[in-house]
Amino acid sequence: LTFEEANLCQTLNNNIAKAGYTKLTPVQKYSIPIILAGRDLMACAQTGSGKTAAFLLPILAHMMRDGITASRFKDLQEPECIIVAPTRELINQIYLEARKFSFGTCVRAVVIYGGTQLGHSIRQIVQGCNMLCATPGRLMDIIGKEKIGLRQVKYLVLDEADRMLDMGFGPEMKNATFPEAIQKLAGEFLKSDYLFVA
Ligand code: AMP
Repeated sequence: LTFEEANLCQTLNNNIAKAGYTKLTPVQKYSIPIILAGRDLMACAQTGSGKTAAFLLPILAHMMRDGITASRFKDLQEPECIIVAPTRELINQIYLEARKFSFGTCVRAVVIYGGTQLGHSIRQIVQGCNMLCATPGRLMDIIGKEKIGLRQVKYLVLDEADRMLDMGFGPEMKNATFPEAIQKLAGEFLKSDYLFVA
């Protein structure tokens, strides 16, 4: 399977070619069609397996196909996609991939994490945010400040969810952080797929 055959979209294919990717890795081969079909997915794959692109590419393809909703209020951004990862390094890597693949599209990705001024995160967000990449604590802070609304969230990624549980972010993941998104997920739980790539 090539990326051209994966039914993403032309701008994405151009950005993938620019990144020098030619063949899908196994986790990409299995995940991309499932996510493109609108199904939920839990996947286990090792670092270096290409799992970041495995979720970013089909989510971006959906967002470009469906169009993004312009924010109704400058001070409250309503992203379609929220990606959460346990550490600054990890979320920054995800953000850099998101920037690379969303180049030339209407999707604006933003990254926020703890250990920086909250004001800095807010300034990034108010410039426009369709895809928010965040560490859990900073995400909670920004939602508390009412800078991010969850009404438009259609895609929720919990990267290294096992590690976030180990770090004690279980309660945030379960009920505090995404009441609406989680409800949606729960309602659609029967759609879930499970994928294990050795
Ligand atoms: P990840 O497992 O998402 O951290 O990706 C590991 C590395 O593989 C990153 O540097 C990616 O840019 C790269 N990568 C991901 N998918 C592909 C692919 N299909 N072909 C070549 N390199 C890739």
